[in-house]
Amino acid sequence: MTMNPLDPQEFRRQGHMIIDFLADYYQNIANYPVLSHVEPGYLRELMPSFAPLNPEPIETILRDLQQHIVPGITHWQSPNYFAYFPSSGSTAGFLGEMLSTGFNLVGFNWVSSPAATELESIVMEWLGQVLKLPKAFLFSGSGGGVLLGTTCEAILVTLVAARDKVLSQIGRENICKLVVYVSDQTHCAVQKAAHIIGILPKNIRVVKTMKSTSFTLLPESLVSSIHTDVQKGLVPCYLCATVGTTSTTAIDPLGPLCKVAKEYGMWVHVDAAYAGSACICPEFRHLIDGVEGANSFSLNAHKWFLTNLDCCCLWVKDPASVIKSLSTNSVYLENSASDSNQVVDYKDWQITLSRRFRALKVWLVLRSYGVANLRNFLRSHVEMAKTFEGLVRMDKRFEIFVPRNLAVVCFRILPCAVARIGNGRVQNGYLTTEDAANEINRKLLDSINGSGLVYMTHAIVGGAFVIRCAIGATLTEKTHVIMAWKVVQEHADTILNH
Ligand SMILES: *Cc1c(COP(=O)(O)O)cnc(C)c1O
Repeated sequence: MTMNPLDPQEFRRQGHMIIDFLADYYQNIANYPVLSHVEPGYLRELMPSFAPLNPEPIETILRDLQQHIVPGITHWQSPNYFAYFPSSGSTAGFLGEMLSTGFNLVGFNWVSSPAATELESIVMEWLGQVLKLPKAFLFSGSGGGVLLGTTCEAILVTLVAARDKVLSQIGRENICKLVVYVSDQTHCAVQKAAHIIGILPKNIRVVKTMKSTSFTLLPESLVSSIHTDVQKGLVPCYLCATVGTTSTTAIDPLGPLCKVAKEYGMWVHVDAAYAGSACICPEFRHLIDGVEGANSFSLNAHKWFLTNLDCCCLWVKDPASVIKSLSTNSVYLENSASDSNQVVDYKDWQITLSRRFRALKVWLVLRSYGVANLRNFLRSHVEMAKTFEGLVRMDKRFEIFVPRNLAVVCFRILPCAVARIGNGRVQNGYLTTEDAANEINRKLLDSINGSGLVYMTHAIVGGAFVIRCAIGATLTEKTHVIMAWKVVQEHADTILNH
């Protein structure tokens, strides 16, 4: 056995084996239970207690992979995967990732790998144009884009810039006065980022949303929150508006929210982690109308844009404010290109120094499929969601809980269906029919996921437990969606008839 860990011949041989393994995996993926049913700690019993001292052949390792690891995998690429949000992989996304890993370069600044930086700026420009982002967000305007790992990072990066911008005006000692605004539907990433950068927990304002307005953040609710804070001498700093909330894909009204924020000199970040991808379709672009009033905008290409994890696209109007907060200078990083101020040094646009060549993934995806096919891919999922929604509506025991925006359907068994069938149980066991409905819907979800045939997850909004069917796995077709509804109905039959 060769002792060179990067021997080209062995690389070729073993690399082909892994590709074959994955091709077989994708071929057979629908046969696996979508949600893994292993017990906590299952792997410890199957693995040796100590790392091997001597080399083992790839054949043995692959056998253990199939026998021990695969059973503990939840199959996000399964066509029957409808949980959380999709993680839509593709051949192009995979190959781009593979190339990035193969080059294994560390492109922290321009000179450390010029193509990595330049390709990233180019794909961010391409994607920004396809999304019809205002020029102010693009390099061709006065803005620019960067590829980060996740939305959590995009939020942290923009929040730091927003914090320092305000503190440069009011003095760093006043950090305890800064307020961050979110809605009760905003992703928890904002609270975490606020915590990390020293915003006081009591200054994270969680504005309430309501079912009657589809759980969107209302400008008037925001205004009244801000008024109260300003009267107390606090300083509005950052608003995170969401296009496509995680629970129900609610769309916050960007135009009016940005207008309010502008009055108070607040930074607005638009988190379009899931729904942003859909905005490459002209018919969905209106979801981000008003984005011109925001300071930054991000989406996760690893959710619904055929780009394998991880890949968050962030555009900012004023890169200088981000760079001001995050730039680092060390003697060993000094170089004439950076000194010339003619290049982008992406290390100053992110938390970490080292960074991966993510642009290859986006470049391969855009080139391999073309914008036309990407649009059709997104549309096909929205059509499938419409089909699923139609099926839910035909069953009178169920309701669509909030209007569907894209390819996520939020539904539940109606409280009245539970009350009718449960008879005395409602009065005996539960306080209200809503509580009973929550219990039954939770049971239903556990039951369908236990079948292994599909995997869906839940949200709790306005006190109601709802089941989310998020359509967007790359391999999902209409037949899978119809089958998924059959599974739901069959399990509902069993649960409601007991
Ligand atoms: C998924 C999601 C996030 C978190 O994304 P990460 O990339 O995992 O950090 C944030 N916001 C919204 C609206 C999301 O849907």
